[in-house]
Amino acid sequence: MNQMRIDPKTAVVVGAGFGGLALAIRLQAAGVQTTLLEKRDKPGGRAYVYEDQGFTFDAGPTVITDPSAIEELFTLCGKRMADYVEMLPVAPFYRLCWEDGSHFDYANDQEALDRQIHARNPDDVAGYQRFLAYSKAVFDEGYLKLGAVPFLSFRDMIQAGPQLARLEAWKSVYGMVSRFVKDEQLRQAFSFHSLLVGGNPFATSSIYTLIHALERRWGVWFPRGGTGALVKGLVRLFQDMGGKIELNAPVARIETQGNRVTGVRVEDGRLFGADSVASNADVMHTYDKLLGQHPRGVSQAASMDKKRWSNSLFVLYFGLDKHHAQLQHHTVCFGARYKGLIKDIFNGPRLADDFSLYLHAPCVTDPSLAPPGCGSHYVLSPVPHLGNAPIDWAVEGPRYRDRIFDYLEKRYMPGLRSQLVTSRFFTPVDFRDQLNAHLGSAFSLEPILTQSAWFRPHNRDAELSNLYLVGAGTHPGAGVPGVIGSAKATAGLMLQEVHA
Ligand SMILES: Cc1cc2nc3c(=O)[nH]c(=O)nc-3n(C[C@H](O)[C@H](O)[C@H](O)COP(=O)(O)OP(=O)(O)OC[C@H]3O[C@@H](n4cnc5c(N)ncnc54)[C@H](O)[C@@H]3O)c2cc1C
Repeated sequence: MNQMRIDPKTAVVVGAGFGGLALAIRLQAAGVQTTLLEKRDKPGGRAYVYEDQGFTFDAGPTVITDPSAIEELFTLCGKRMADYVEMLPVAPFYRLCWEDGSHFDYANDQEALDRQIHARNPDDVAGYQRFLAYSKAVFDEGYLKLGAVPFLSFRDMIQAGPQLARLEAWKSVYGMVSRFVKDEQLRQAFSFHSLLVGGNPFATSSIYTLIHALERRWGVWFPRGGTGALVKGLVRLFQDMGGKIELNAPVARIETQGNRVTGVRVEDGRLFGADSVASNADVMHTYDKLLGQHPRGVSQAASMDKKRWSNSLFVLYFGLDKHHAQLQHHTVCFGARYKGLIKDIFNGPRLADDFSLYLHAPCVTDPSLAPPGCGSHYVLSPVPHLGNAPIDWAVEGPRYRDRIFDYLEKRYMPGLRSQLVTSRFFTPVDFRDQLNAHLGSAFSLEPILTQSAWFRPHNRDAELSNLYLVGAGTHPGAGVPGVIGSAKATAGLMLQEVHA
């Protein structure tokens, strides 16, 4: 039956995170007049930038993988990525350190990897090769074939079933790594990656081991000028294609008429009409707040309330009047506990006494991010979200900052406190209040198997047929490659509607 349908030749995208930006670029490049509305004063979302006294601090993502997915955005606009942003290789990918003083340089150099693995356990050299082969198989199935394909019907899920079964996707990341590798520190080294996208290595599907193969295949990169330079490049690309972006434009409501959306209303009262709307904002915020007036919003919010949400983060940004040449660009500082600490982080109910940290030292790759001879840094500690641990961060934040500074000074950065020029921190409360993240979660819905693919909120809403989602809360999930893949999946659906 022919239904009355308006061709979606205009679109509004709510939120200028990497997912929102990538979607807006794809739509604009395909001739859909697209307006991007962002709540904050700068684009980037989790990839916000702070500037202070000559220091530049990337707020969030720093490990840029799969540059080909980013490059594709420029190519489909007929542009060259190199004219917008320069990507610098990072080597080693990470230095992983333990409290016993040992470390492991995880690099794209098989000989160096084998040497380090052999020194820990000679049997693990062959075990690692088997793990890598498994991880590559998952990468081919889970990322190359399914990463940017929307799962709208259960049939799509059933079709993927045999592959998931063959890859034993019900096993956890840590469980799978342990099958191949015996040394406990190596098990940590090859299983912590899912934490980068909010996944508990003991509960998240072994599908997430694909991150390992992804890094080995395309490397780890860092944009010159920081991740913020990549965000700026994407915004410029969008504008060069004729797209419009409004900052300081918090959307208050998605307007509906029956089971169609008609546009969005910004908090100052302005109405942006559009043929279709995509939300890059937190999925709970989208349904509960922006669509709270519609039965679909109410029912989706109630269903999401029962789901598991990823952990939050405490992020501490600091500038020093010294460059610590002993550091690598990316350092993971494992604490004494691994499994026990991860359990505390994902389940609460309180802040653990110990921590494992990720330390960012971007001046190793690009000294321009700090004044000459100085160092710009951030350190993040995964912490429970506010639903699992309702901590008063106004009180706990300064205490936690001091504990982290003490730890870093003692073990990694001698003299840190006397070198401190500036610092600031971002807590789960900031994730909630500044980014509208449900429970202050840093990565949206937890990426467990029962909340992945078809089980994740769909890229197109099942009832409001011209409402779409993009970003960490929809398929495939969090992480820069994930949300850029989600933009491809969502754009495919939106453009199908345009060309139908
Ligand atoms: C500290 C940190 C470090 C990370 N490190 C890495 C890393 O190294 N590598 C990696 O791949 N991933 C990393 N991640 C994960 C990655 O950053 C995120 O998964 C990804 O950037 C999320 O993108 P998104 O498109 O979902 O949008 P988000 O970045 O979540 O952006 C959503 C945007 O929507 C806006 N918004 C919300 N509500 C409204 C509203 N009502 N109206 C208008 N706008 C609204 C928000 O202000 C925000 O700008 C990290 C995350 C964090 C927090």
